Amino acid sequence: MVQSSRPYADRPVALATRHGKQRVIGRALRHGLGARLLHLPELDTDQLGSFCGTVARQGTALEACIAKAELALAHGGTGLAIASEGSFGPHPAVPLLPVGMEVMVFLDQQRGITIHEQLQARRTNFAQRRLKAASLESEAGSAELQRWLSAVGFPSHALIVRPLGAIAPDSAAIHKGIHQRQALWAAIAAAAAAAPSGQVQLETDMRAHCNPTRMASIRQLSFRLVRRIATACPSCQAPGWGLIASEPGLPCGWCGLPTTLTRAEIHGCVRCDERRELPRRDGLRQADPGHCPHCNP
Ligand SMILES: [Zn+2]
Ligand SMILES: [Zn+2]
Repeated sequence: MVQSSRPYADRPVALATRHGKQRVIGRALRHGLGARLLHLPELDTDQLGSFCGTVARQGTALEACIAKAELALAHGGTGLAIASEGSFGPHPAVPLLPVGMEVMVFLDQQRGITIHEQLQARRTNFAQRRLKAASLESEAGSAELQRWLSAVGFPSHALIVRPLGAIAPDSAAIHKGIHQRQALWAAIAAAAAAAPSGQVQLETDMRAHCNPTRMASIRQLSFRLVRRIATACPSCQAPGWGLIASEPGLPCGWCGLPTTLTRAEIHGCVRCDERRELPRRDGLRQADPGHCPHCNP
């Protein structure tokens, strides 16, 4: 039923990034579609919102991602564009566990279609902590910071240091992309001096070129998106056929009543109304009674 096609062979796809995503996304486009990447490094997508909070993001991550792709579409002149967007925060069910959500969008102006995929990155170093510069003078304070630095993967993963308190978001006292120990101590001292409270905030720098873990997620998502673009709708042949929703109601293995677990996957087209219901990919036909509201209330 699922057919593979290469409607974008040799076509240039515009990408606006200053964060080094062109290599991983370009490889996926080349391998999966035979397409070429047109990198637009002069376009500043931070005007649409940035991680460090300098510019607040408008709307959802998907909307922000589509806005980025539209910007690349307008400047690339190729009729095709791709963009990626990440958001990070506490896990909705397990607040102590940080998670990353990555979305990626592909626009085809001529066909008038938007294809997107997402990835929940369970591996992320997303974290922040506050400290007083004076605490580093004690052995315990500096050992504690050292443990945190190892946990977040510093120095292979960069950090942001900012003074805590009312500081303009574009302040020179905010230091980003810190990859070196000496630069980190200097930034902590400078930020503490600029902070009314004397406290500083350390954060993981989530920009892709500063964060190899995030770059790996973007690589994985690029290939996922490209596979979807290469999958044609069985009805109208438009690219981008794939999962659009999941249907709950997997029957309980004991009593047969529906549970909240996924019973079926709904695959659909981005252009026409074609929909197909497919069984779960993992082949599971019955839910463990532990998930049943009747057997395990
Ligand atoms: Zn279709
Ligand atoms: Zn049951």
